[in-house]
Amino acid sequence: MSRWRCVVCDYIHEGEGPPEICPRCGVDASLFVRVESPLRELVREFREIVVPHVVLSHFPAALLPVAALFLALAMIFDDPFFEKAAYAMLCLSALSVPAVWFTGFSDWRRLYRAKIAPVFQLKKALGLLLVALCWVAVVWRFFDTDLWYEVLWKKSLYGLLIMALVALVTLLGHYGAKIVHLWPTEKGKK
Ligand SMILES: [Zn+2]
Repeated sequence: MSRWRCVVCDYIHEGEGPPEICPRCGVDASLFVRVESPLRELVREFREIVVPHVVLSHFPAALLPVAALFLALAMIFDDPFFEKAAYAMLCLSALSVPAVWFTGFSDWRRLYRAKIAPVFQLKKALGLLLVALCWVAVVWRFFDTDLWYEVLWKKSLYGLLIMALVALVTLLGHYGAKIVHLWPTEKGKK
C-alpha cells in the first residue's frame, strides 16, 4: 500500500495506485505522485532537476571575472596579495573547465541527441578554447612566478589573457542560456 498525492490540490490517496480521478479537484491519475519520505523526494528531485553542467559552469563563470578584478586591484594598489589571489582563482577555474566541457558535451548527446546546429558547434569550439587558454595562463604563471613584476609586455599579455577568458566564459554562458531558453530538450518532448 502506498500513499499518493495530487500535485494540484495535495489530496492524499492510499492504495496500490493513484485514483482515476481526484475526488477533491477532479484531475486525472497522471497528476498523482507517490508520497516518499522528504529526504528521498529531495534526492529524486535533485537527480531529475539539477544539471551538473549548469552547476559546474558557475565556477569559472564566477571565478574568472573575480580573478580579473583582483588583477586590476593588484595594479591599483601594487599589492602582491591580489595577484596571488587572482592566480589561485585561475587555478580553480582551470580545474573546473574540463569538467564543465565534458558535462556540456554529455548533455548535448543526452538531452539534444547530439544535434548538429551552429550554436552547439560554436559552444564546443569556444569551450575547448577556454580550457586551452585557461591552462596556458596557469602553466605560464606556474613557471614564471614573477611575470607580473618583470617587463610590461608580460604583465599586459597576462592581463589580456585573463580578460579573454572572462569574455569567453561570458559568451559561453550567453549561448548556454540561449540553448536552454530556445531549444526544447529531447527529454522534454512528449
Ligand atoms: Zn486534486
